[in-house]
Amino acid sequence: MSYFDTMEEMGHEQLIFCRMQEAGLRAIIAIHDTTLGPALGGTRMWPYASEEEAIGDALRLSRGMTFKATAAGLNLGGGKAVIIGDPKSQKSEALFRAYGRFIESLKGRFITGEDVGIDVNDVEYMFMETRYVCGLSKAHGGGGDPAPVTALGVLQGIKACVAERFGKSSLRDLTLAVQGLGSVGLALAKLLHSEGARVVATDLDEEKRQHAASALGIDLVQPEEIFDVPAEIFAPCALGAVVNDESLARMRFKIIAGAANNQLAENRHGLELHRRGILYAPDYVINAGGMINVFVELEGYDRERALRMSRGIFYNLRRVFQIARSEGIPTNEAADHLVEERIKMMRHLRGMYTGLHQVRYRWETR
Ligand code: NAD
Repeated sequence: MSYFDTMEEMGHEQLIFCRMQEAGLRAIIAIHDTTLGPALGGTRMWPYASEEEAIGDALRLSRGMTFKATAAGLNLGGGKAVIIGDPKSQKSEALFRAYGRFIESLKGRFITGEDVGIDVNDVEYMFMETRYVCGLSKAHGGGGDPAPVTALGVLQGIKACVAERFGKSSLRDLTLAVQGLGSVGLALAKLLHSEGARVVATDLDEEKRQHAASALGIDLVQPEEIFDVPAEIFAPCALGAVVNDESLARMRFKIIAGAANNQLAENRHGLELHRRGILYAPDYVINAGGMINVFVELEGYDRERALRMSRGIFYNLRRVFQIARSEGIPTNEAADHLVEERIKMMRHLRGMYTGLHQVRYRWETR
């Protein structure tokens, strides 16, 4: 299939190739949809085995960003960029500044920040050449670590699930199995604990497990035991593709609601959860807190505002569940419907003529 065919099928607007040999830069920027606002998405640096793999990643991830921003009710579009190279050995000031100049040349159509392989120092180099970066250090007006905001959003999402599935507002007397005690998982475990829920958690890293147990007094299991925990709720906060044929055969949970990206190994697993009566909080709806944090940074960072906005995830999920219920469809499909509907409506809305500033006619003064 040609790239134009792929872009048409996935709904992309633009695919940009950036090269500066002297700096060793080879980057690809994918802009998916800017109906709602500038395309926002991190830049990933990875030693891709082929150009096709790099382009595929940029196309797939940028589309995911449109869905996340739209479902969160933000006025942002989706984009993503990849730099082909080894982050351990091929980083340099010149590379990130050259990349920054390409970003600047897009005049705000694409705003970027950290992703896999990129850290805050690399973003600072980009910032020397372009205004259109986010995830800056606090010293430069950035929002700092987004994980606590993401965790608060996930907690709100869990509450929406509990209200939907059990018709109650409290997490007391409920058990949650938390997979992953990294930045988000640990913050979430803390919040759940303070809400009176019982937390059983795991991490591949023994040190993180012990730290969580001594700091929070939560129960631990080995990583491979997490799917067998007799809990009502499973909160995946580690890697993607956690809902797959193998894990599904073991799960007895009533709800799956966590921070991890791309939780369903394949779309059909959403249907399987629906069939088994397991309520699934679509990942890109429940884990939007990090993106909300960045959005607030673009407006002038205010932590209180970021936390307040991420509480809205409760209502976003309620809406998804309502669509799923009334249409009798899996929640992942309902979330996609919500996104498509909002973009369609905003396209109509933006098409409405609002004044002379929109179009310059020849009789307007120049
Ligand atoms: P992190 O790297 O800080 O933590 C991930 C943890 O998961 C690590 O401690 C790791 O040891 C553990 N882990 C990995 N595989 C595991 C397994 N099989 N079993 C148990 N533990 C395992 O990452 P994070 O920032 O906490 O993010 C967690 C997830 O949430 C990721 O999927 C990320 O993409 C997603 N997410 C994060 C944010 C954010 O604000 N940080 C926002 C949106 C989505």
